[in-house]
Amino acid sequence: MTRILLSMLALAALSAAGNAQSTPATANSPASAAPPAPAKISYSSVKTDGPCIALTFDDGPSAATTPRLLDMLAQRHIKVTFFVVGQMVEAHPEILQREAAEGHEIGNHTWDHPDLAKKPDDVVRSQLQRTQDIIVQTLGAAPKLMRPPYGALAPKQRQWINKEFGYKIILWAVDPMDWKRPGSAVVAQRILSQTRAGDIILVHDIHPPTVDAMPAVLDGLLAKGFKFVTVSELLAMDKPGKAKPAADASPAAAATPAAATPTEPGAAKKNDQKNDLPDSL
Ligand code: ZN
Repeated sequence: MTRILLSMLALAALSAAGNAQSTPATANSPASAAPPAPAKISYSSVKTDGPCIALTFDDGPSAATTPRLLDMLAQRHIKVTFFVVGQMVEAHPEILQREAAEGHEIGNHTWDHPDLAKKPDDVVRSQLQRTQDIIVQTLGAAPKLMRPPYGALAPKQRQWINKEFGYKIILWAVDPMDWKRPGSAVVAQRILSQTRAGDIILVHDIHPPTVDAMPAVLDGLLAKGFKFVTVSELLAMDKPGKAKPAADASPAAAATPAAATPTEPGAAKKNDQKNDLPDSL
């Protein structure tokens, strides 16, 4: 223990010495050597200069509603992201194939929509693996994204899922609560009034009124100047603010890489609470 402590102290002293010696010109190097800040693994929105947004549809594919939605998207050349449920894919692999063939992105939304935060790791693992397997079997490619049902996933779970599956964990910034079926006009109005550039929007393609709302939503967002991209495309545009880390690039800040983590879980927590409500199915 003391050995570790001592070597940590020695390291701290070394880096402090390094900082003291460094001229202002090299003052950036501690910041650029600041990858201790762990790679971001969960997102509800991104920081982007452009007008891009990602519309996401959960819980399908559904034979009753998804093909109609795909027609609406194709007419407008809009690409979205579908977070699919494995057992729904098993029932309608041809709809998943159409989604992918038409340029939409596919994400993993578990096999049968449990609350993963309440499940042991082996259950979580099999929910994700089984769904990934059927997606690969149907499309020949594995998803890069997952969305936990109800947005419910503990920070530890996020970490190991990202490590094992390579998934980014995708939450959302705009939730019109369409699963409560407030009516198409309300769904459209909520999305149009709440959406900002860089946002990820959550809706469900299994609800007919949600699909009914889409012409107004899609045309309304286009009229406001938004550009639709898939979630992976949106993430690639993320410009994590450099200003903050540079501003407090004090050795103290550098010595506590863990402190960098809370920035975004805070935002995500808000979403988790928002979505503690049942998310249909
Ligand atoms: Zn869901």
